[in-house]
Amino acid sequence: MNRVYNFSAGPSMLPLPVLEKAASELVCYGESGMSVMEMSHRSPDYEAIINDAEAMLRKLMNIPDNYKVLFLQGGASTQFAAVPQNLINRTGKADYAVSGQFSGKAFKEAQKLGYDVKCIATTKDDNFDHVPKITKDMVRPDAAYLHICYNNTIYGTKYPEVPEIGDIPLVADLSSCIISEPVDVSKFGVIYAGAQKNMAPAGLTLVIVREDLLNYAEEKMPTMLEWKTMAENGSMYNTPPCYTIYMAKLVYEWILEMGGLEVMKEKNVKKAALLYDYLDSQDYYVAPVKKCSRSMMNVTFVTGDADLDKKFASEASKAGLKNLKGHRSVGGMRASIYNAMPYEGVEALVAFMKDFAKNNPKA
Ligand SMILES: *Cc1c(COP(=O)(O)O)cnc(C)c1O
Repeated sequence: MNRVYNFSAGPSMLPLPVLEKAASELVCYGESGMSVMEMSHRSPDYEAIINDAEAMLRKLMNIPDNYKVLFLQGGASTQFAAVPQNLINRTGKADYAVSGQFSGKAFKEAQKLGYDVKCIATTKDDNFDHVPKITKDMVRPDAAYLHICYNNTIYGTKYPEVPEIGDIPLVADLSSCIISEPVDVSKFGVIYAGAQKNMAPAGLTLVIVREDLLNYAEEKMPTMLEWKTMAENGSMYNTPPCYTIYMAKLVYEWILEMGGLEVMKEKNVKKAALLYDYLDSQDYYVAPVKKCSRSMMNVTFVTGDADLDKKFASEASKAGLKNLKGHRSVGGMRASIYNAMPYEGVEALVAFMKDFAKNNPKA
C-alpha cells in the first residue's frame, strides 16, 4: 500500500527516512542484539541514545548551557499542572494569556490548584481568530511567570514574535511549532512541548527550563512532576519513554543532516505560502484567521457551508489526503503541515481544493 499525505494535527506524519531508519534497526540495534524497545534504560547503548538525543536537540535549537533539557511523560497537558507547581513559589501568583483551547486548559488547571492566577489577555470573544497583543505593562510585575501557547493548533494561530515582558519568566507551550523554525530559547524561562505533533510519536514531553527556575517548586508536589528531580536524574528518576526518545533522536538527526532549523524554516515557509497564497487568491474558501496571527504549521479554512466542509474532508480522504477535518470544537478544515509534510503534499492539497471548488459550485 502507498503512503498517503496525512494532515493530522497529532499524532502526525513522521519523516519517511526516519521511519525507514527505525525499521532497519527495529529488531537489532547496532551490535546490541536487541531492539531499543527491549533495552535497559541504564545500559550503555541506551545511555548513548538519550545523550545523543539531548546533544542533537541542543545543537538544533541552540539551547544555552544554563538551560536543562528534560525528556518526560504525561503529554503537554500534564505540564499544565506541573508549570504552576514548579514555579508558583517564586512570587505566589501567575499570569496567563488565553489564545485558544490549550492555553485555556492550562489556565484552568492552575486555577484548580487554588493559585492566584490571572488571565491578562484573551481573544475568546473573537473566536480566537488572532492572538492577543501582549506588552510588559499588562503582566503583573510580581507574577512568577507569564504562560502563553505559542502556536494554537486548533485555531491555526501563532504569535508573530516572542512577547517582550522584561525579567518575568515567559513559559510557553510550543507543542505544535517546536523545531519548525529557529527560536531564541534565551527569551523563554520554560519551553514545553508534547512530541507527537512535530517531533516523535506520542509518549514524550519535552521541557526546556532555565536552571534558576528549578528552585521554586511546591514542597508537597508529586515528585514525578518536579523538574528539579528530573534534571538531577538526567530524566531518569524513573523509566523514561525510551523508544520515543530514540525516535525523537532520529528526527533531530534528520533535520541536522538537511542543515538545521534555518533550512527547515525555509521549507516550512514555502509550504505555508503555497496554501495561504491560494486561499488569498480566491473566494470559495475562507481562511478565518487574521493574517497577523497565521500559523505556519496549522492552516484552517472553511467553505462557509457545513455540508460542503464535510464533503470536502470525505472526498479528500478518498483522494489520499487524510485528516483534513477541522477540530471537533471548531469545524471546517485544518491542514497540519508539520516538518514531515513534503511540499508535494501541499501541492496535491491545493490541486484538490481547486478541483473541489470547480465541481461543487455554491448555490
Ligand atoms: C496537542 C497539544 C496539547 C496537548 O498535548 P498532549 O500531549 O495530548 O497533552 C497541548 N498544547 C498544544 C499547543 C497542543 O497542540
